[in-house]
Amino acid sequence: MNDKKWLSVYPESISKEIKVPDVPMQKILQNACQSYPSNTAITFYNQKITYQELYIMSQAFASALQKKGVKKGDRVAIMLPNCPQYVIAYYGSLTAGAIITQVNPMLVERELQHILQDSGAETIVVMDGLYPKVKSVKQHTNLKNIIAVSLQQSKAVFSPDTSFDEFMESGDGNINPISIDPEHDIAVLQYTGGTTGRSKGAMLTHRNILANVVQCYEFFKHELSIGSQRTLSIIPLFHVFGMTSAMNLSIYIAGDSIMLPRFEIDEVLETIKRERPTTFPGVPTMYVALTNHPKAEEFGMGSIRLCNSGSAPMPVELLREFERKSGAKILEGYGLTEASPTTHCNPAFAERKPGSVGIGVPSTEYKIMDLGDGTKEVAPGEMGELVVKGPQVMKGYWNMPEETAVTLREGWLYTGDIAKVDEEGYLYIVDRKKDLIIASGYNIYPRDVEEVLYEHPAVREAVVIGVPDAYRGESVKAVLVLKDGKMTSEREIIDYCRANLAAYKAPHIVEFREELPKTNVGKILRRALREELSKK
Ligand code: AMP
Repeated sequence: MNDKKWLSVYPESISKEIKVPDVPMQKILQNACQSYPSNTAITFYNQKITYQELYIMSQAFASALQKKGVKKGDRVAIMLPNCPQYVIAYYGSLTAGAIITQVNPMLVERELQHILQDSGAETIVVMDGLYPKVKSVKQHTNLKNIIAVSLQQSKAVFSPDTSFDEFMESGDGNINPISIDPEHDIAVLQYTGGTTGRSKGAMLTHRNILANVVQCYEFFKHELSIGSQRTLSIIPLFHVFGMTSAMNLSIYIAGDSIMLPRFEIDEVLETIKRERPTTFPGVPTMYVALTNHPKAEEFGMGSIRLCNSGSAPMPVELLREFERKSGAKILEGYGLTEASPTTHCNPAFAERKPGSVGIGVPSTEYKIMDLGDGTKEVAPGEMGELVVKGPQVMKGYWNMPEETAVTLREGWLYTGDIAKVDEEGYLYIVDRKKDLIIASGYNIYPRDVEEVLYEHPAVREAVVIGVPDAYRGESVKAVLVLKDGKMTSEREIIDYCRANLAAYKAPHIVEFREELPKTNVGKILRRALREELSKK
């Protein structure tokens, strides 16, 4: 798509190219504080924090870090659920010149140890309930400073290290100014690569992260209002989607980020009713829970003007059902850690195509390359590997030059996703390259089968994987969670798929479960399931 056909759907009021301000990321908090000091920046249960307070606290945190000896480029890990301390530690660390390593609180010791060792972090800000995990791996890492956050909602576990409040008080407010080169200096090391195997640290520079904030703002600016936006921030901030859409974008427009540390459906619905958010970035599993809640219609989501879905495919049937019940509209987008993350989204200003992830956000190029050596662009409508280019694309992987060279080629990011574009340039994600199932020589994309399964009236969630099969090489297995009170059988599901798909794509095996393994972001852990089943 070098001809950038999709840009013709952009109206004149939306810039096709953005100019990324040549400033470090933390400048956006300073700007919001200067323009809207008394606006609420964060709502956390009954606590409200203004921009002025947030800015002052981030400065105190930066000062305390420097007093501890943290220098430019040192790594500071943050292992917290969504809470005000997350934002303070994030902006404070950037102000001190540190590189942030965001850590999923769900990680087990082995995974945590890998990230801490690989990043070389000497400081970690961690929820006190997770302190035992950190303590048990500490001796294998460079950790010197452990700062424990006690949330009212968490069960306090005594830790002998510094508490967050004590740490903040230890700063004297003086900060040694740090000179940041936004284009080259890393702001965040974002680990990616799933829960098994060697996860890699994507180096996101200050410019990468700021670029994506500006790109998303420009793309959605008619839906956003500076100084009065209210974002429901449940999507974890440690994940790059949450970082950009629920934290940084909200700060960029001096909005209020209404945070919840976890997705508990009743609490979410109560919060929507009480706080009346205007924006909700979510992942499909959150929309599944909202859609299937008996009170979904009664609570209403009328205040929400913009629902974004990303991180995983949004089944079309789910999108329609959610919209029918909530009255809100979902715009599905696409992105990945290595692109800070957003590269595509369905527009609010032009046609939305359910099933597609939309068009490129400003200053983003994309094309589909052959699945062989990836050097030839394929024609519209044909499948191949999606490659993208833009100011949001990472600098590379931390200490991994070979992996970087495979993933970044001549400025193009090879996403590992199989996709196609239509004549107008709308992008359709078909599947992950490595999730492709090959059964009896046929290529089967799990997404094709899952879309059909979601249409079945009894199915609440579905995942399709390939399992080893002596005869076919692999065979298709569906793992399903049923809607409350619904019944079906393996035979009925297989027949339903045969009636709606080419026979070779229909599952041979169907398993019913109470729930599916998921990441903290709500992505179904396809790989974990595959490994578990192949061990069996
Ligand atoms: P992560 O780096 O954890 O953000 O994961 C990025 C991956 O999530 C992408 O490479 C895609 O495989 C997948 N993904 C993100 N958004 C979508 C979407 N809307 N539809 C399908 N897959 C998606």
